[in-house]
Amino acid sequence: MTTLERLQTALSGLGLTGIEARLEVLLERASKQESAYGDFLLEVVSAEVEARRQRYLKTRLQLAHLPYIKTFEQFDFSFQPSIDERQIRELRTLRFVHEASNVILLGPPGVGKTHLAVALAEAGIQAGQAAYFMTAHDLVTDLGRAYREGRLDRRLRIYLAPKVLVIDEMGYLPLDEMGATIFFQLVSARYERGSIILTSNKSYGEWGSIFGDPIIATAILDRLLHHSTTVNIRGESYRLKERRKAGLLPAWEGEEGRALSVAPASTPPKTRQKAALGSVPAGATESGL
Ligand code: ADP
Ligand code: MG
Repeated sequence: MTTLERLQTALSGLGLTGIEARLEVLLERASKQESAYGDFLLEVVSAEVEARRQRYLKTRLQLAHLPYIKTFEQFDFSFQPSIDERQIRELRTLRFVHEASNVILLGPPGVGKTHLAVALAEAGIQAGQAAYFMTAHDLVTDLGRAYREGRLDRRLRIYLAPKVLVIDEMGYLPLDEMGATIFFQLVSARYERGSIILTSNKSYGEWGSIFGDPIIATAILDRLLHHSTTVNIRGESYRLKERRKAGLLPAWEGEEGRALSVAPASTPPKTRQKAALGSVPAGATESGL
């Protein structure tokens, strides 16, 4: 057995697979650069540290259950001028995660709400914070089943554990009374303990109709918005733009985003708003908050 082979066997036996994978490169480089012993050892140890970090991130990413991986670098902010880039830069510092504050992304379909939610969750994972992604519908279905089987408290804990919980597509489907109550419990339990990143195609004024009851909608919004950042996206669907570019749509058929726009164009994005929600009657506009 050569020295290299013996080393590989030993490293593999010790479970130091990160070093094992890079051993030949490390040895070659050290002999070419005539590295000092200390520098060489540092490189060897760093190879294992980095490999473990990558493994850990991969596991965390898999556990997060993200629908796809999208990053901020892949987001074309010039396509969506209604987004305040400063606000996004602030969110990217992940201060909101440390403060257990929430992020609410509002806008019509295709404007990048899920993309930005995923990018924030992914950034959190890179920074060592566990994240979990669910659609609002799947979340409420899952917790509803747990409630009927008498194990709601235990099941809730799964959604309380990660520092970041993404709840996607709130409002596409209305919730029944039990769904609304369960959602209220979840939001209350995470309040000031862990961040929620929520996406919705409905403005706050329309939340009464999601929950079927303006009183519970107000109670949920009260907790959700107390420490929160709202990113209001008004614009055209990116999917539509891509379809049009591919020649699949005539140029005039591009009003989906604007027609479904959720907020009046005059409403500025609100940062860290303290919501003073006396009540949110169904049909109230966001500017009334
Ligand atoms: P929604 O607002 O409905 O959640 P998504 O975030 O799913 O929309 O966006 C739809 C698709 O378009 C995704 O593949 C997303 O990556 C892409 N997309 C949306 N907005 C942008 C953008 N500004 N730059 C790059 N890709 C975008
Ligand atoms: Mg989406």
